[in-house]
Amino acid sequence: MGTDIGWTDIDFDRPGKQTGFFNLPNSVHDDAWGVVPIPLTVIANGSGPTIILQGGNHGDEYEGPIVLGELIRDLDPATISGRLIIVPAINLPAVEAASRVSPVDGLNMNRTFPGDRLGSLTRQITAFVHDTLFAMADAFVDLHSGGSSLAIVPAAIVEPSENAELARKNREAVMAFGAPMNVVISNYGDPRTSTASAVRAGLVTVGTEMAGAGTVTPEAVRVCRRGVRNLLVHFGVTEGQIERPQTASGELHAIAGTHSYVIAPSHGVFEPYHELGATVRAGEPAGRVHALADPASPPRELAFGADGIVFGRRHFGRVRPGNCCLVVASPTE
Ligand code: CA
Repeated sequence: MGTDIGWTDIDFDRPGKQTGFFNLPNSVHDDAWGVVPIPLTVIANGSGPTIILQGGNHGDEYEGPIVLGELIRDLDPATISGRLIIVPAINLPAVEAASRVSPVDGLNMNRTFPGDRLGSLTRQITAFVHDTLFAMADAFVDLHSGGSSLAIVPAAIVEPSENAELARKNREAVMAFGAPMNVVISNYGDPRTSTASAVRAGLVTVGTEMAGAGTVTPEAVRVCRRGVRNLLVHFGVTEGQIERPQTASGELHAIAGTHSYVIAPSHGVFEPYHELGATVRAGEPAGRVHALADPASPPRELAFGADGIVFGRRHFGRVRPGNCCLVVASPTE
């Protein structure tokens, strides 16, 4: 199937399980007529919704790609009703580099939606997702983790929508995931993320933030694996019961605004005062920045700007002005 900017041998309309690639031409010094082969699997059977399951938007976030690989290997097409389009390593160059941004053009794919088929490689991958995949789908699941710079409480993420019915469907799907937290995140209101773009396209949309810190944890893999399987039941693609462990939260939190972020004011090393998951209040001391080369000068103490739960924490100790040290998720009800 041609897509204007690349091709795949996968027939999106054929029943069964097909594993292959979306091939995107990438003409570089050692490979003038080469391609970037992005893994693409379609599993289809009977009638039902089309769900896009995406991982590797950021190349240093691993639970999603691991769980989607399991699904590709293990799911029997005869047990589903509908169609799954599975792209576990959508930003393949970033995944292979284990990097948030692409080594090809330096771009963060998740700030390039809706993409540009005449743009650089990352923008072309994004255009494939937006123009080709979104157009076929009813729902979009983008599996993220905290990445190299953040440790995050495993959570399912609600992308806000001004459409009340879509907002309700997004919240219901997020709750079905069964994560330890459910958090509304708008990424400072940025319209260029995959989930913001999917919501604008009218797709039922679920994001995640698993643990992060550039590594894999057993608990985050368990949360992600269970969550993806719960979503398939929720969307009616597979039969069975939604599995809600004791740790699943029925509450909805939100990153309420720019005051929810604790930002470094100076160069140094950030010392947090709390563990992830701690309950904190606006005005309470959050941590301090030490100038290690000037030990006689007092550290600069930072305060929380919102009431809530410590949801994310910078993983690297070193900070420079503007770095995000902490994120608070506030109760919504
Ligand atoms: Ca991410």
